[in-house]
Amino acid sequence: MKFHVLTLFPEMIVQGLSPSIIGKAVEKNIIALDAVNIRDYTLERHGKVDDAPYGGGAGMLMQAQPVYDAYRAVAGDRKIRTVYLTPQGRRFDQKMAREFAGEKEMILLCGHYEGIDERVLEEIVTDYVSVGDYVLTGGELAAMVVIDAVARLVPGVLGNGASAQEESFHNDLLEYPQYSRPEVWMGKSVPSVLLSGNHKEVEKWRLEQSVERTRTLRPDLYRRYEQRQRLIGRLSKDKRNQIPLMECLAGGQGRIVGTVGEDVAVYHRESGVCMIKASSAENGRYLLGVCPQEARRYLVSRDFMRNLLLERGYRELLVCRQFLYTRKVPLPVRHKDIRRLDAESLSCIIALCGMQNRAYLKERLCAGALYGAFVEDRLVGFAGVHAAGGVGMLYVAEDFRGNGVGASLESYVINRMLERGHIPYGHVEPCREAALRLQEKLGLYQAGDTFYWLEKQE
Ligand code: SAM
Repeated sequence: MKFHVLTLFPEMIVQGLSPSIIGKAVEKNIIALDAVNIRDYTLERHGKVDDAPYGGGAGMLMQAQPVYDAYRAVAGDRKIRTVYLTPQGRRFDQKMAREFAGEKEMILLCGHYEGIDERVLEEIVTDYVSVGDYVLTGGELAAMVVIDAVARLVPGVLGNGASAQEESFHNDLLEYPQYSRPEVWMGKSVPSVLLSGNHKEVEKWRLEQSVERTRTLRPDLYRRYEQRQRLIGRLSKDKRNQIPLMECLAGGQGRIVGTVGEDVAVYHRESGVCMIKASSAENGRYLLGVCPQEARRYLVSRDFMRNLLLERGYRELLVCRQFLYTRKVPLPVRHKDIRRLDAESLSCIIALCGMQNRAYLKERLCAGALYGAFVEDRLVGFAGVHAAGGVGMLYVAEDFRGNGVGASLESYVINRMLERGHIPYGHVEPCREAALRLQEKLGLYQAGDTFYWLEKQE
């Protein structure tokens, strides 16, 4: 991801962000930081970029011309999400950080003095963002806050991929208390459960602490958490059919966008997928109406929902059966050389299967969600986890089919999902007989409903 910062003080941005984790991510080319001096673009002699506001009043205002030319130098004719940092904007939070982390590139515009001429803002800004209800002297500190919070969500920026998932605001819960050496400090001991070595008990204690902290410190977040837990409880009565919604809510990636009676629509932010459980066409119509505009795909499970989407011009991508693995025990993996793949494996994967969707594969590789099976260092198959949470993408080279590589790959992915506390599930087209047999062989349960994936036509 690339951040361009339009500022009068580029050194503040570079110096402020170069130490620590963000600086290391820049060094490793995982993110790029481009601090652009607006002053370099003024047409005025002596580098002047500000003038007095029309109508009088205190202070000076940044003029439109240098800001616009700096913007054009960066964006050219491209449309890039452009954030103006301003106390008048939408309040920045973790949800917005996640949304921005989905961009490939963004521009952050920092004001100074009394702000910036309104006309250039109207011309170039897509989002007005505030870091809080107070007034700073310039937008640089605010831009650094946004970059720091967004960059750490970009895959690969944090060394330990799991750590962003356990932090405050993930899943609408604040993080649990943490302790390090020594065991006793100022007469205070570390809670004994953390020294027990019992991972299940540690997880349980941490969740209890998170819930209790959130309840007392942030009742607003706690209400959302409770609403979600109640919904997961209701959906679990029909687990085989409702597992995608349950998993996406439990993992904290799903936003409940609407409910009606027992029915619900959940938007999975990272994948842009809306998942709808509707028991009647009337409820379905209502839920479709509240789904966000940016939803690119739909996962639905009734004929009337499929028809409603087709009527609205959506294109059917897949008709599938759904399978889930409800046992907690890991599956045996016979093939020994299975490894997590990285972005450098993209060309090998494409050479192996000729898959068309390069951008999606690359995104999944960067997210660390694809695993490959190797024989003497040759990639002979792969499988992984889709952006919306399902196990899939299974492919085995023709000359290695029928000798257990596919079973090993799927088992391996299922085991990784179990380790992370998920209930693994996947979708298989009814025409793929070998894949259907594999689900049965591995002991996955089939849901009763048929599932439909539909996509917005561009
Ligand atoms: N006159 C402006 C107003 O009342 O809205 C405030 C201007 S402020 C002194 C100068 C610059 O600091 C702004 O243009 C903006 O870029 C940045 N800034 C100040 N407070 C901010 C905040 N809470 N969030 C984001 N940016 C802020």
